[in-house]
Amino acid sequence: MKPPHSPMKKRTVKQPTPGERLIRPLVRTLHPYTPGEQPKVPDLVKLNTNENPYPPAPAVLKTIKAAVDGRLRRYPDPTAEPLRARLAKLHRCSPGNIIVGNGSDELLALATRAFVEPTESTRLTAQGMSLSTVQYFDPSYSLYPVLAGIHGARHNAVPLHDDFELPSLSRLRRGVQWDFRAALSFITTPNAPGGRGYATADLDALAGLHKGVLILDEAYSDFAEENALSLALKHPHVIVSRTFSKAYSLCFQRVGYFVGPVELIDALHRIRDSYNVNGLGQVAAEATLDHLDYYQANFRKIVAAREQTAKSLARLGFEVFPSQTNFLLVRPPRLSAEAWMHKLREKKVLVRWFAPPTVRAYLRITIGTAQQMDTLLAAVETIATAES
Ligand SMILES: *Cc1c(COP(=O)(O)O)cnc(C)c1O
Repeated sequence: MKPPHSPMKKRTVKQPTPGERLIRPLVRTLHPYTPGEQPKVPDLVKLNTNENPYPPAPAVLKTIKAAVDGRLRRYPDPTAEPLRARLAKLHRCSPGNIIVGNGSDELLALATRAFVEPTESTRLTAQGMSLSTVQYFDPSYSLYPVLAGIHGARHNAVPLHDDFELPSLSRLRRGVQWDFRAALSFITTPNAPGGRGYATADLDALAGLHKGVLILDEAYSDFAEENALSLALKHPHVIVSRTFSKAYSLCFQRVGYFVGPVELIDALHRIRDSYNVNGLGQVAAEATLDHLDYYQANFRKIVAAREQTAKSLARLGFEVFPSQTNFLLVRPPRLSAEAWMHKLREKKVLVRWFAPPTVRAYLRITIGTAQQMDTLLAAVETIATAES
């Protein structure tokens, strides 16, 4: 007998294994977010993940240590109420405008789940919104496409200019690619890995044209000349995302927060885990707010080191993009960026290189202490001399 399918029908689709059959088809195809390396060797100068080179304030460490006692057996505050009250005071809004998360990454994921329809369709609402579209500029934070993928949403990645500037409003409006009706748009400001800060006035004008939710991801705003927090308290569809990780030396504790309109923040509270922020993280973040002077002094040191390093690298032949963050994006001379990354690692300096085509020509270098920057520059000089 003839087989039921002709050879033409033979497809190369791999049959799922019995284990894979138990997994949702969407999830079978996903690739996880790639975090920067956390090396096991202790003596590397670690400039690859934008961590703060300075430890938390001594009083903050003391408060965290003092909190490690019998109370660990109890659940933490489910809504991080005391921390939200402190943050509300800091930002001159109400606690209802704030949600705290297990890092801001958790909140970015919750926003995708709360505001975006998980479907392949491009269905529009009565107001003309692309219900299933998650939108962001490229290059920016590489978590956004991962979140859209997990959710089964449509991605709209819109290229930035070659110098990482935002396309002008009139260009975006001419509507080639940027979709003002997207259910959810992410803008990293200042941007990563480009480093540029975007003017609040420009973001305000952009926000005014958006129909869906706009999240301004301000993970690096403490190193910038201005921030756009006021927009979250002005527009009914704008949220600003902040984190204690980078500027406040608390990556390990996982505490981030959103500031935004009560209705949107409420929606996120409805879908979060009951105890999404761990107790020691809440303690650490509250204590941090008592010592902002210490951190502000660190910001000034980091910004000074950034400007100094930018000049030195430019002298060594690097193209250096202007930065409002705690890192520099640079295009190294002579060798490929990937080769530079390996050569620097041999000299015990770890920097970040990204493989995607829009960023593969660059290195992203986190700003460390002045001493760490000296080590970096000495290594760069040795490599440059050997190559010239
Ligand atoms: C580091 C980073 C975050 C994540 O911060 P966490 O609060 O540690 O989750 C979010 N957005 C951008 C752009 C970042 O660089």
